[in-house]
Amino acid sequence: MFQDHRSVLELLYRVSREFASALDLKTVLTRVLFAAINNVGGERASIVVMDDNERVVESAIVYGNQLRESTTIQLKDTVDRGLAGWVVRNRQPALVPDTSKDSRWLRRQDDAQDRSGAKSAISVPLLSREKMVGVLTLVHSVPNAYGDEHLELMQAIADQAGVAIVNARLFTESQRQARVMTSLAEGAVNINTSLHMEQVFESILNQTKQALQVETAALGMVEQPGGEIVYRAAIGENSDKLVGKRIKAKEGIAGIVVRDGRGVLLPAASEDARLAEAEHLPGGNTRALSCAPIHAQGKVIGVLQAFNPLTKVFDPDALLVLTGLGGLAGSTIQNAQLFESLDVARQRYRDLFEDSIDPIVITDLQGTIVEANRQASTLSAHPTDKLHQFLIEQMHDINFEKTGRKFEKIGDSTIVYESTLYDSLGGTHPVEVYVRKVVFDEAESIQWILRDITERKDLDALREDLTAMIYHDLRSPLANILSSIDMIATVIPTSEIETSEPILKIAYQSLDRIQRLINSLLDLTRLEQNQPVGEQQAIAVSILFEGALEAVKPGAEGHNQTIKISLADLLPPVLIDVDMIRRVLINLMENAVKYTPQKGEIAVGAERDGEFVRIFVQDNGPGIPEADRERIFDKFTRLKNKNGPGGLGVGLAFCKLAVQGHGGRIWVEAVPAPGKGSRFIFTLPVAKKEE
Ligand code: ADP
Repeated sequence: MFQDHRSVLELLYRVSREFASALDLKTVLTRVLFAAINNVGGERASIVVMDDNERVVESAIVYGNQLRESTTIQLKDTVDRGLAGWVVRNRQPALVPDTSKDSRWLRRQDDAQDRSGAKSAISVPLLSREKMVGVLTLVHSVPNAYGDEHLELMQAIADQAGVAIVNARLFTESQRQARVMTSLAEGAVNINTSLHMEQVFESILNQTKQALQVETAALGMVEQPGGEIVYRAAIGENSDKLVGKRIKAKEGIAGIVVRDGRGVLLPAASEDARLAEAEHLPGGNTRALSCAPIHAQGKVIGVLQAFNPLTKVFDPDALLVLTGLGGLAGSTIQNAQLFESLDVARQRYRDLFEDSIDPIVITDLQGTIVEANRQASTLSAHPTDKLHQFLIEQMHDINFEKTGRKFEKIGDSTIVYESTLYDSLGGTHPVEVYVRKVVFDEAESIQWILRDITERKDLDALREDLTAMIYHDLRSPLANILSSIDMIATVIPTSEIETSEPILKIAYQSLDRIQRLINSLLDLTRLEQNQPVGEQQAIAVSILFEGALEAVKPGAEGHNQTIKISLADLLPPVLIDVDMIRRVLINLMENAVKYTPQKGEIAVGAERDGEFVRIFVQDNGPGIPEADRERIFDKFTRLKNKNGPGGLGVGLAFCKLAVQGHGGRIWVEAVPAPGKGSRFIFTLPVAKKEE
């Protein structure tokens, strides 16, 4: 058959070039088969191609000069049990001179002696870099048709074929990947063009329909809580009634995809019982269905579905492409959601800004007004557009000490000061200004809230007037009453003293209370103006306590309360304005009496604390919430307590100023658990020896 090596080499050269010039697997296989038949001889040649797992993925037969494709099922037997299988398992060529005498040959009907079937055969492995990529078999209708030289030539052709097949496979794979990549890249470009949800949905679906070549595409979102899937958008045939339809949690193909986080492809869907009702397009029109999850931040937020490919069957890459599009859709939908919520937030800020009962003005960092709300326009009596040309300092007196001359002190935390706002009619309004930096329309800006405090100022003034009135107009009549009672006391006949004494006592106690209140009010005003406390003298704490106790005892007894006094041993005297501090102590004790229930227990005591003596007044009343423990010492602060005792809210304010006027401190603590109530504590300076 072969004259010499040279012609063999020439043949191989030709064959290898022929193989290498084709990149499509089918063409390569056809060429290999014809090369085998034409150069080695025989009636029939077959070839199977296997993947890395030695599964047959492609095959072809040439018989009587005719190519037959899709022969995989036909060739399955010989790979499983016949000669090709032997070659695969042994990775060796096989020469069968007589098929009737070789057990490797899987006999068929037409192989019998008297029939035209195979009588001899030759089968070689197709190898590429030691890897099995297929088997090439050649059969002859005459026994002993092949010898070793045929086997060698076959193997030489097979070696060339092995390389060509691997190349063709790589090429197909890279083409497939390129197709997937192109679809996804197009998807990414088109899907990302909008931030508006409806448009985002639409472009995702357009992209899906186009990339997968399907009749219909739909998008469902998982609703929380509950996990129901709702079709939010759909395009293509029979899609118009889909939007708004729901699939119950965990139901349908969508449910499976959400649960597993993985895509599903159903080539024959019409009979599939797993489909939810909504997934059957109208008229039972779901023939094939592919469904992929839409992921965002590790969670499945929806599904993307492609119905009925135009070419009747889905492309092998359909699921891959759909899954890719699902991935793209996830981040895009999320961006659109964020954008929408940002939009809502922005609108809400706008509404709040406009509807705020406080005037709000936004300026740039130099103080030029860029935005002003309705209320700002009302209070300043300037139309909004007029305000836009103003500098903020034309509107009100800026406290530059707090803001900085160039507003450099204004930051994220709010600066507060009182000021005056000037309106266009020449009027002025007291305002409390809250300033801080904000981002407005994406630019660093300054927000000025100019709260109109006219009413509060009026009220404060009224309170001041009232206080002034109380102590000026009550003090002298009170002094008169006191001296009148003193007089009466001296003229009561001895026989009447027993009956009149308790009455006089009540009168004295009441007068004392009113006087204390008036004096405290007077002190409060003086101390508020930073005037020093009156004359101080050294006094034993026990004497201070006695004086206070005398004043509050009747009240406590009326409530059946007990007052426990605990004075530490060897307490030094304190240096104080005795009358003032006595009133402080009485005030705290009266509060204790006021806020402690019937039969409650009040404890007062003192102990040394370095250069100070620490005095406490403790009750078992309702206690004071932590958040209020500082502000109750402010003037006019009264905690909300519907049925609680009445008061003015100036007692503790006076106590604080009085104690501070002596260089001491006052605060309130909760009574340690399991007790309940408040413990007011204040410190007074110890009197030095020489004083
Ligand atoms: P007034 O008692 O006249 O209201 P104060 O300045 O003495 O004013 O007290 C301010 C507020 O602090 C009271 O309204 C009350 O809510 C609260 N308070 C004061 N002392 C006590 C106390 N011992 N227990 C509970 N709440 C108290």
